[in-house]
Amino acid sequence: MDSIWTQTVTLPAFPALEGHVQADAAVIGGGITGLLTAHLLRREGVSVVLLEADRVGGGQTNRTTAKLTAQHGLKYHSLIQQVGIKTAGQYARANLEAVERLRRLVKEWNINCDFQDCTAYLYTQGPPAALVAEYNACRRLGMDVFLTKDTQLPFPAQALGLRNQALFHPLKLLAALLDGLTVFEHSRVLEVKGHTLRTEQGSVTAGTIIFACHYPFVNFPGWYFLRQHQERSYVLALEGAGAMGDCYLGLDGAGLSFRPLGDLLLLGGGGHRTGENRQGGKYAELVRAAEGFWPGCRVVSRWSAQDCMPMDGIPYIGSFSKNRPDWLVATGFQKWGMTSSVIAAEVLSNLVLGRKLSPDHAVFSPQRFHGKASVKQLAGDTIQAVRGLSRRVLAPGRIPAETLPAGHGGIVKLNGEKVGVYRTEDGTLLAVSVKCPHLGCQLEWNPDEKSWDCPCHGSRFDVYGHLLDGPAQKDGECQEEIAGCNTKKLQLPGSD
Ligand SMILES: Cc1cc2nc3c(=O)[nH]c(=O)nc-3n(C[C@H](O)[C@H](O)[C@H](O)COP(=O)(O)OP(=O)(O)OC[C@H]3O[C@@H](n4cnc5c(N)ncnc54)[C@H](O)[C@@H]3O)c2cc1C
Repeated sequence: MDSIWTQTVTLPAFPALEGHVQADAAVIGGGITGLLTAHLLRREGVSVVLLEADRVGGGQTNRTTAKLTAQHGLKYHSLIQQVGIKTAGQYARANLEAVERLRRLVKEWNINCDFQDCTAYLYTQGPPAALVAEYNACRRLGMDVFLTKDTQLPFPAQALGLRNQALFHPLKLLAALLDGLTVFEHSRVLEVKGHTLRTEQGSVTAGTIIFACHYPFVNFPGWYFLRQHQERSYVLALEGAGAMGDCYLGLDGAGLSFRPLGDLLLLGGGGHRTGENRQGGKYAELVRAAEGFWPGCRVVSRWSAQDCMPMDGIPYIGSFSKNRPDWLVATGFQKWGMTSSVIAAEVLSNLVLGRKLSPDHAVFSPQRFHGKASVKQLAGDTIQAVRGLSRRVLAPGRIPAETLPAGHGGIVKLNGEKVGVYRTEDGTLLAVSVKCPHLGCQLEWNPDEKSWDCPCHGSRFDVYGHLLDGPAQKDGECQEEIAGCNTKKLQLPGSD
């Protein structure tokens, strides 16, 4: 199902790139990061072209809940512990300033994107120790926070509030940012070499190349595939749920998120590492929770999205790599891309313009290394990558294809090969290779989205093997010896 945003706004269409184009800057990716950056550059008189693989606003920005806040979960206590108070302070100031900056831009540019002020809350129904520690950390950093038991939640809870945050309609913002931009849609960048990038039918040469494509798809240099993984979560748009003016994020169990949207309420949760949802049931859990809170409420839309989780909990914004000073990148937004993209647009446009960066922005440099903060996740990600690779080679197929019920998928062994098989409602078996074309890990079935997801780096494919999410940049591999791979129908031995 489409997100609620797509149901209310249709963005204009743009042509595909054909032939050769020259510009000062080329932006890869038409999400909030790419569009904000391109827009700022254009306003400064820089000639900029933006290339989008599919449709602008069709990536994760289309599936966000668009809370614009510097409150990023239990962030600040952990940041102070892991990277010290100075760096934590830079992170806090940069994100607080990002909220103000977007507020100012929306006002100055007269953008109608349903921008609405709110207080952002973290809440718990359990012991409040973590909340109190976060409160103390935020106070040390000068943030305007308070503790309260007075919330709009449908259950008693203790909460930590941060005032002067906001909500907005992400696609309405993008629609305004598109004005006057040179955009090419259906123009996936297949290769970047020096100052030139290539799509299927064209190429661009630019002084600076900006990777605003959510997950940088160039593996070397940069090594971003070793420095982040992806996590996915699920959202329901509900009619008939309780009225709320503010937004909430839970610290307990499912980590439920509440976000008002006119007469509707967005309920989010069910987060997991991409590729690790073989059992499914994430939407069902959210529906059960909603019915418990507001009996009789109705789901009007549901969707899921994913984001990149950096090793040390800080996005990578700046120079792509020491060896490529003219390539810039913004990634690793850890489900807080509304403020991170505003920071990215400012940092990246200043780098293109040769302007001095704010000292607070040093915290986002992709060239930093915070050993203490990174070690745990680096070890976890490495184990996951090894597991994903070895599983494909060593682990047996899990089920006989004949036993797959309609509407279900699973990994089967067929003619000595492991194949991902999905049985459609009319009984057709669709087969794909389970080898991720990015770096070869074994794809896993996600029953909630009926997709094949990579647990190593988070690439995703539909039941036909078509690419849904990067870092992979092409459809699932089709091996000659896999009968029916990427075709509509798989013939089982003995079947018609
Ligand atoms: C469930 C969920 C809820 C969230 N809610 C919030 C929230 O409330 N507040 C918040 O701050 N953040 C939130 N986030 C995070 C936020 O949505 C993202 O961080 C943000 O939208 C990322 O924007 P982006 O522009 O970087 O990426 P995208 O919007 O994904 O844009 C990248 C674009 O690049 C294109 N692309 C990829 N490869 C290529 C290529 N080779 N050539 C050309 N184009 C390419 C893609 O097609 C895509 O359109 C949430 C995340 C999730 C998962």
